Order: sequence, then structure tokens, then C-alpha cells
Amino acid sequence: MKIGVLAVQGAFAEHVAVLCKLGVEAVPIRLPRQLEDLDGLVIPGGESSSISRLMLDYNLASQIKNLARNDLPIFGTCAGMILLANEISDRENVEPLGVMKIRVRRNAFGRQTESFEAELAIPVLGEKLFPGVFIRAPLIEQVNGDVEILARLADGTTVAARQGKLLAAAFHPELTDDSRFHQFFLEIVAEGR
Ligand code: GLN
Repeated sequence: MKIGVLAVQGAFAEHVAVLCKLGVEAVPIRLPRQLEDLDGLVIPGGESSSISRLMLDYNLASQIKNLARNDLPIFGTCAGMILLANEISDRENVEPLGVMKIRVRRNAFGRQTESFEAELAIPVLGEKLFPGVFIRAPLIEQVNGDVEILARLADGTTVAARQGKLLAAAFHPELTDDSRFHQFFLEIVAEGR
């Protein structure tokens, strides 16, 4: 199984490390031709405006869009989730791929809670709570179509969702020792092969 990790900006090395720990081949992606033979792709957290611009500059955006439409499993975390969305409330400097039917608000948590941790109930990962690390995180304001909500904060805010083979989390599973979210993504990847 070969998983690409978009490596133009942000926390890509951490995703590569988790995927390697789980025993799959993880490849940093910077060139369009590297997208050709992947079984799945991770779009990491970072700064969505930078990743967005670099994806366009490196001619990656349109190919990733096509691959998503052709059912390539994609896992977006934090900025990566923003880039998957088809609607974002603050579009300044960000051109999302628009492949997932979610409306996302960037930097959605106020100053005091810009970064925080929350224990999340994520039923698809089992009963044990998942350590959610939120860093200037976005939230999902609305899901449409066949999008399934995977996790909410205690106040009901949606912070993770799935649409077919697309997976989005507002937090950073790659910054924890808990690899269940990545494992879940790899199960989605395995289903499609
Ligand atoms: N605030 C960032 C953005 O809007 C996302 C932060 C993150 O990925 N940790 O792109």
C-alpha cells in the first residue's frame, strides 16, 4: 500500500512517521507525477493559504481534484480539511479543492482557545476517547449530501467527517501517539483495492 503525503508546507513529516509506523509506504508528494500510482493521499495541517497557493504553483491542485473525483481516498487534517471543503467562510487567499460537501470556518476558535486539547468520542474508532489536538483549528459548520459526521466536541461542534473515501478532521491525529484515525483511513484505502 502506497500513501502519498502532500509535502509542500505544514506537518507532513509527522504523517509520514505515523504511516511508516503502521507499516505502509509513505511518500512525500511535491510533483504531479508522484501522484500517479498512489493508493491514498494525506493533506496535512499547516497554513491553508500557503498550501493552496503551492498546490496551484506546482500544478498539483487539478490532478488531486481529479483523483478525488475518481475515488482516491484522501485524508485531510486541519488545513487539509479546509482544502477538501467545497465551501469556506473565509476564502481570502484560499482556493479549496472543493471535493467534500462540507462548509468549514477557518480559525474558528477564539484567541484563548486557539490551541487546545479535547478528548473526543469517535464511535468509528472504538469506545476509547481520542486525544484531539486543535491548533488554530477550523470547524465544520455544515455537512451536506452523504457526508457522515464522525466526531463532535462536547458543545456539539462538528470536528470530523467522512464522505465516501474522503476523510476530514479539524484536529491533528498525527501529533499524538494514537494511530487509530490513520488506521481507519488505511481501512478505507484497503476497501477500495
Ligand atoms: N489556521 C490554519 C489555516 O487556516 C490551519 C491550522 C492548522 O492546520 N493547524 O489554514
